[in-house]
Amino acid sequence: MKVFKFGGASLKDAASIKNVATVLQHYQKQKLTIVVSAMGKTTNALENLCDGYYFQKGDVNQILNEIKDFHFNIIHQLFADKQHLIYNEVSNLFVELDWIIEENPVHSYDQEYDQIVSLGEIVSSKILSLYLNEVGIKNNWMDVRDVLQTDNNYREGKVDWEITQTNALENLLPLFTSKDIVITQGFIGGTSENYTTTLGREGSDYTAAILAYCTNAEEVIIWKDVPGVLNADPKWFNDTVLIPQLSYQDAIELAYYGATVIHPKTIKPLQNKNISLYVKSFVSPEEKGTLINNEQAGLPTPCFIFKVNQVLISIAPKDFSFIAEESLSNIFGLLASLNVKINLMQHSAISFSVCTDFNEQKTPKVIELLQKEFRVLYNKDVELATVRYYDKATIDRVSTNKEVLLEQRSRYTIQLVMRNQK
Ligand code: ASP
Ligand code: MG
Repeated sequence: MKVFKFGGASLKDAASIKNVATVLQHYQKQKLTIVVSAMGKTTNALENLCDGYYFQKGDVNQILNEIKDFHFNIIHQLFADKQHLIYNEVSNLFVELDWIIEENPVHSYDQEYDQIVSLGEIVSSKILSLYLNEVGIKNNWMDVRDVLQTDNNYREGKVDWEITQTNALENLLPLFTSKDIVITQGFIGGTSENYTTTLGREGSDYTAAILAYCTNAEEVIIWKDVPGVLNADPKWFNDTVLIPQLSYQDAIELAYYGATVIHPKTIKPLQNKNISLYVKSFVSPEEKGTLINNEQAGLPTPCFIFKVNQVLISIAPKDFSFIAEESLSNIFGLLASLNVKINLMQHSAISFSVCTDFNEQKTPKVIELLQKEFRVLYNKDVELATVRYYDKATIDRVSTNKEVLLEQRSRYTIQLVMRNQK
């Protein structure tokens, strides 16, 4: 069995959904588990809905109506028969949101968030499943919450691998006795008390890897709107090159440093079972794309990644003493308690610097708390460039017209925290 993942961009309108059917024509008679994300930008819209509901701001009903209209518009284009059961099924799914927003929130924000935002994946998988059945690509729809169990760490559920594996054998694999294809949701999971959790934004890739791991799948294909893994994000650079093959190790590094093409958590489960991962274009499915496996060939070309909207925080003891283990442990504790992820850190005798994503709520909070104990300086609007397999030309290229505030090099990777030259 192969596991496919189709993300939001591959399901953004009726034409894209029809295109999924075209991609699947290349895989007739093969067993496929297809993991889908919410359609287009639905997750962002559901986040807005959740914010409006929880913090009582904006017109929540209007946001919800826009989400419904977006989906029904697509359904109308896909299903000529207006009596088709899809109309009822999707209406019933949305009723769950109607119910939620009628009452006041009772759970934590994160818990309410997961109950609301998860609907994007439930609806998209329903639409795709029924559409494919309609055009003769017979499949079973599966609620992934019956398989993928997490703890109740809402918005960043941790997978219970043992239970998930047992569930996959009991609830997922038997579905292949009647049909070759199973359609299910990415990004979401369930707790032992049957609450819904999510795995973190962009987590659908990770779902594909989890299901592949638990079923010993032969390979995973992530279908993207780019030809595969490129040496840089085409959003920033136009002469990018496709990397035909990379090792799990390089893929982890690139994803970790911010290459958005694969979710960083995706690789490890696949590496552990030596399952090949392909990144391919849903526009040209016959192209080879990128293969990620355990062959360590080194990258054919330097790869670079930009993270923009970073903040560089420098922390020093108020009494000009050295930064010692105890201060570091306090700093880490504080960052961890606010769930702030460190993108880069550097330690000198009297100060400690961290580069993190700027976040309107968290960043001022972090600074305020640190200032209680330390002298704190920070630079906003900086960017972090990471170059894997760097050379001089690439470093020059990424740092043109930039002022480098901090630099860190290892044998294969260089990272630069920079801001635009004034
Ligand atoms: N729909 C979710 C998101 O937008 C999960 C995903 O796309 O992977 O974050
Ligand atoms: Mg997505």
